[in-house]
Amino acid sequence: MKKVLHQMIIAAACLLLAGCAAVPQESEEKDAFSAVREEIRLEAVQKARPRILPVRSVFPRNEEGSILALWERRMPEPLHPRAWNGCENGQTVALNGDWHFAGESLIHSGAAVMYIGTAPRNGKIVCVNAGHGTAGSYSAYTYCHPDHTPKVTGGTTSAGSLTAVSVSSGTTMADGTPEAEVDLAVALALRDRLLSEGYDVLMIRESSDVQLDNVARTVIANNMADIHIAIHLDGDGLSYDKGCFFMSVPEGIKYLDNVAAVWESSERLGDCLVAGLSENGTPVYGSGRMAQDLTQTAYSSIPSVDIELGNTASDHGPESVNRWAAGLFAGVNRYFGFS
Ligand SMILES: [Zn+2]
Repeated sequence: MKKVLHQMIIAAACLLLAGCAAVPQESEEKDAFSAVREEIRLEAVQKARPRILPVRSVFPRNEEGSILALWERRMPEPLHPRAWNGCENGQTVALNGDWHFAGESLIHSGAAVMYIGTAPRNGKIVCVNAGHGTAGSYSAYTYCHPDHTPKVTGGTTSAGSLTAVSVSSGTTMADGTPEAEVDLAVALALRDRLLSEGYDVLMIRESSDVQLDNVARTVIANNMADIHIAIHLDGDGLSYDKGCFFMSVPEGIKYLDNVAAVWESSERLGDCLVAGLSENGTPVYGSGRMAQDLTQTAYSSIPSVDIELGNTASDHGPESVNRWAAGLFAGVNRYFGFS
């Protein structure tokens, strides 16, 4: 028993000594800690040091070695025909539930389609949205604004309304043709022009129907394109072609964060489109703009325009369709500074 007790005392003493030895002085601990921190800091600095790029990468030059002007610079062609956002040519783009405002959409079983422009591509993606063309849209009403405040101007839906039909049916041309059909013809012609000139194009609708409401169309454009152009004709009941104009942004929705960030660019895009149409022989209605509180405008976080090419009295034969497409194309070039 004595022997056991003796051993226990020795063991306890050893433990006490070992414990004392393991506890460093406070200053030593600080020094060790600082040294590790300094090592980590140096490693981070080393990693963050910029790589020296070859001059060619910083200033693109032509074959003679002169530095290219800004407007001469084209983004390099990738090895595979992919859009800059990773889409294949002809890939469908559905609404992603994680995208901002996606939860406000009620009709989104359809999909848009991404097309890759002909080389040399210019790195811009244009969303072309042929107005209307969503069967069953009158059974679903979406909020006019993402924050569920009431609409501030009257139109298809009156001012003060909290919700609006998810996609309206559109008007009917004087000869009985649905507006949606004319919108589509212009959209397809614009698509082909843009693609042949190096733009990538996100098409919202390419047939008489797409199951995407105005919120879904806008949210897809917000996340996949640089600009969003919705094509329409005005249903004003006039017997003469009054000309084109775009729907500018009303004061009452400029407080919305997403609208505050882009409304000036949207209006510049609208002005460019009207100028392009005018240059190509389309008359302009008044100042070329009319403030309207549209679902598209309220949910947009990229420059976005509803363009009214004319009204129900406008001629909409193949020549007019081409003239409108040429005008819109000129407007897009003007907006991006390519003309
Ligand atoms: Zn319309």
